[in-house]
Amino acid sequence: MSEPTRLSRHTSRCPVNVSFEFFPPKNAEMETSLWESVDRLAPLSPSFVSVTYGAGGSTRERTHSTVKRLIDETSLKPAAHLTCVGATRTEIDDVIREYAAAGVKHIVALRGDPLTGIGTKYEPTADGYAQTSDLVAGIKRLGDFKIAVSAYPEAHPESPSLDADIDALKMKVDAGADHAITQFFFDNDLYFRYMDKVRARGIHIPILPGIVPVQNFKQTAGFAKKCGTDVPAWLASRFEGLENDVATRKLVAAAVCAEQVLDLIDRGVTDLHFYTMNKADLVHAICHLVGLRAQVDKVAA
Ligand code: FAD
Repeated sequence: MSEPTRLSRHTSRCPVNVSFEFFPPKNAEMETSLWESVDRLAPLSPSFVSVTYGAGGSTRERTHSTVKRLIDETSLKPAAHLTCVGATRTEIDDVIREYAAAGVKHIVALRGDPLTGIGTKYEPTADGYAQTSDLVAGIKRLGDFKIAVSAYPEAHPESPSLDADIDALKMKVDAGADHAITQFFFDNDLYFRYMDKVRARGIHIPILPGIVPVQNFKQTAGFAKKCGTDVPAWLASRFEGLENDVATRKLVAAAVCAEQVLDLIDRGVTDLHFYTMNKADLVHAICHLVGLRAQVDKVAA
């Protein structure tokens, strides 16, 4: 049987660049899971790996130590997340200086969710950075960092409209953001329509699609609801009845994610950002599918 056209078509194209998001571990078990995932994904030579900053700055130390270990013990290029929430400018500037001292060259600058929880009104901290564009400008003042920001193809839940949301992105770009990473989405058409609007608004930075492999449908759907990400009926139906069938769920998740990623690549996307949830298996499989090979494989070949 000959190889399916879709696969052969895109794998013969220019290579795809990938990046991976991790979160800082809370306990020893999670620590093991994170570093096993890092070990498995690192040989795929991602453009960068990002490490999240817990809600309200709750993981300041853990984010820092995870990023520091990535710098000290791997050849990966980490991007450290940073939010404006619950801290004064002086405190945030200290974090930026600590990142610089640790060798961080790339920061993902975010506003963060309200301390009172997603869905409640955001109140800037007194003497803090009021919004992300201010934080971006603050980071630029303190060092020569590459800066990433968020982008929302389906609009941020607090946004009155997609146009207002794109205006907020424009402010972040004007303040110095170098690239953006999208909130996860499942309908690629939404991403491409968003990109048309963003480009028409005069925003020309790269905007990497954020991809979530569905490790657990119920959890992902719950999170999507909070984030304003639409969960199409076809997606729900693919996972229907698989609640207690881990093996089939994993195969379906790989197929769903492969379909999304291959379609993005077929339509011209060359850079993909994976929300790994500190789990390597699905992400590794998808990366393999799109033609990425671990360096060790290349050496062995
Ligand atoms: P922004 O994009 O700055 O603003 C959110 C929305 O508010 C805008 O889209 C706009 O609608 C509105 N807005 C902002 N400024 C203005 C203005 N001046 N006038 C009018 N409207 C305005 N959270 C964490 O706590 N830690 C993380 O590590 C983290 N990483 C993330 C990574 C990515 C790629 C993404 C997409 C999100 C991440 N988040 C993280 C979640 C994020 O903090 C929340 O979505 C938060 O509610 C918004 O932060 P933001 O930087 O995306 O906001």
